[in-house]
Amino acid sequence: MSELLVYRNGELVPDSQAAISIHDGGFLLGDSVYEAVRTFRFVPFHLEPHLDRLWRSLTYARIDPGMRRQDLHEAVMLTLEANRPLLEDDVWLYIYITRGRFVNNVQYYLPATAEERRPTVIIFCRPLPFAAFARGYEHGVHAVIPPSRHLPPQCLDPKLKTGSRMHLVLAEFEARMVDPEAWSLILDIHGNLTENKSGNVFLVKDGALYTPAADGILAGITRATVLELAGRLGIPAYERTLQAYHALTADEAFFTSTGYCIMPITRINKVVIGDGRPGLITRRLLKAWGETVGVDLMEQARRHLR
Ligand code: PMP
Repeated sequence: MSELLVYRNGELVPDSQAAISIHDGGFLLGDSVYEAVRTFRFVPFHLEPHLDRLWRSLTYARIDPGMRRQDLHEAVMLTLEANRPLLEDDVWLYIYITRGRFVNNVQYYLPATAEERRPTVIIFCRPLPFAAFARGYEHGVHAVIPPSRHLPPQCLDPKLKTGSRMHLVLAEFEARMVDPEAWSLILDIHGNLTENKSGNVFLVKDGALYTPAADGILAGITRATVLELAGRLGIPAYERTLQAYHALTADEAFFTSTGYCIMPITRINKVVIGDGRPGLITRRLLKAWGETVGVDLMEQARRHLR
C-alpha cells in the first residue's frame, strides 16, 4: 500500500480512486461545508471545536450529513489510523460534506427528496506545506489588500465554513497581481479588515493584540487559541474594528490558521511592518503555542527545508 486512503461515504478508497459524481452539488454549486483539522504528533488538534463548527455550518446550510457526530468523529479517527503507516509527519485532515448527488439531474437547484439526495461525506489527509511554513516563520509573509471585498454576513455569511469560495480565490489572485508573494488581506464593504482565504488576522500595537470581531469572519479556532494564549501570557488582546491604517502602522502583524498556526506578516501593501522581521510578540506566541502542543513549530517546519 503506497497511496493515502480516503474515507468516502463509509468506505476507505485509494486517493486516486476517490472520485465523486459530476452531479454532486458540492462540485456543481459549491454546495458543501467543510473543516480542516491538523495533527500534532499525529493526534488531531482541537477536533471537538472543529466538529462543533462543522455542525453549526451543517445546521445553517440545512445539510443533513446522514450520520451522527460521534460516527463522524470515529470516521476521522479511522481515516487517520488507516493512513498512519504512510505519514512521515503531521498532516491536514479535511472533512467535506456536500448536500450530495442529484439523482434526477434535470434541474440542479430544485430541492430533492431525501431519496434523491444523499450527502457525500469525504475525509482525507494531506501533507502540510512545512517548507513554505519554515520560510514564513523565518522571514514573514507579505500581505496585500485586494480590491474585492469580503461578503457581508447578510449574504453568504463568512461565519459559515463553506466550499463556496470563489470570492476568496479571486481576492487571492488580486493580491498576487500586486505582489506575487503576497497573501490577501480582505476588507469588508465598509473598509474594515476581515480575514483572508484561509486565515484570521492579528495586529500588535504598543504591546497589545488587536483582531477584528468575529461578526463578519470565520471564527477561527486558531484565533480563539491565540486569544487564550495571550490571556495566559498576560498580553492584552482586543476585538476591534480595524482599517488598513491600523494594519500599515502596526508594530507587528500575523495571520492565524489551523495549518501554520501563527504566520508573521512583514509587509502590507509593500509597507514594511515594524523592522521588517517577525516581531517579538509574534515569536513569543509561536513559542508558547509549541510548548502547549509539545511540538516546536519552527523546528518541525525547518526539518522539511532542503
Ligand atoms: N478564515 C477562513 C476564511 C478560513 O477558511 C480559515 C481556515 N479554516 C480561517 C479563517 C482560520 O480558521 P482556523 O483557525 O479554524 O483554521
